[in-house]
Amino acid sequence: MTEAWGPDDDKPRPSAGPVKVRVPAKINLHLGVGPVRPDGFHELNTVYHAISLFDELTARRGDTLALTMEGEGAGELALDESNLIIRAARALAHAARVPAHARLHLRKSIPLAGGLAGGSADAAATLLACDLLWGTGFTKDELAEIGAELGSDVPFLLHGGTALGTGHGEVVNPVLARPTTWHWVVAIADGGLSTPAVYRELDRLRGSAASPPALDSPDALMAALRQRRPEVLGAALANDLQAAALSLRPALADVLKAGEQAGAVAGIVSGSGPTCVFLATDGGHAQHVAAELAASGVCRAAVPARGPMPGARAT
Ligand code: ATP
Repeated sequence: MTEAWGPDDDKPRPSAGPVKVRVPAKINLHLGVGPVRPDGFHELNTVYHAISLFDELTARRGDTLALTMEGEGAGELALDESNLIIRAARALAHAARVPAHARLHLRKSIPLAGGLAGGSADAAATLLACDLLWGTGFTKDELAEIGAELGSDVPFLLHGGTALGTGHGEVVNPVLARPTTWHWVVAIADGGLSTPAVYRELDRLRGSAASPPALDSPDALMAALRQRRPEVLGAALANDLQAAALSLRPALADVLKAGEQAGAVAGIVSGSGPTCVFLATDGGHAQHVAAELAASGVCRAAVPARGPMPGARAT
């Protein structure tokens, strides 16, 4: 790839690097799961919400593609071709017809297999970081299209905010609500839950039902978002995967109970779990609930977070 464009050329330029991108975790304020489609995916109706728990990806120039990491999951997460970061870099390089050369470093705070879409977040961060490093100049929608092949949540994590997700979650439309900051507490569990296993458990639990599962509409949640009252939003939170996550990890019921006893407005399993998220009335309340949850010993860590947050961004 040439780096020598003329002064009048408005093509994006490769960066000398390093490029640093911060990407949020997601929670689902509403997660309606419909029947399995012929392609194996479940039809979803979801309301995504990006929160202030971030992974950070740094991309530097290099002669090969290499990945290092620190933080959550270090020593556990494979850094080879199976990693979504490597897969995202290769997918972008392929689409842009450039060599996939970069030295990538991940600082991970989003727990592995936590139902917070950390892997998809890292893929979104990689697409943006490598796009800037290589000067490939894709639009956010083009990056989202490449990302949708890597994971259903990648398009949302490029956009961020609060958004409606349909299809298998990859079709994203922003929710236009009055700007409100919501305060959450994220209860991080010891060990993860496999997303495919949680969907399989949901199918098993539903197996005996006479009729196919209806796809719950997020209308109540959308109406609640238009108000600014935590108790209204709390009452509208819904997750079809919660029963399956609780069935596989019964101890999550203790986490939900501890959050309630700590005074949270509402609590819910995040996506496929095992992370639980609790709604608080304000920042001070979130600090209090987090401290109580941490002291109760039902989770590995409890941290306050705010939402909505922007999607992957260069810092
Ligand atoms: P989702 O709800 O999107 O399925 P999750 O939050 O439950 O995701 P992730 O942390 O996104 O779980 O990862 C699920 C699996 O993806 C991991 O167990 C790991 O095997 C694989 N994976 C590949 N690359 C990554 C990455 N960069 N970060 C996290 N997981 C990754």
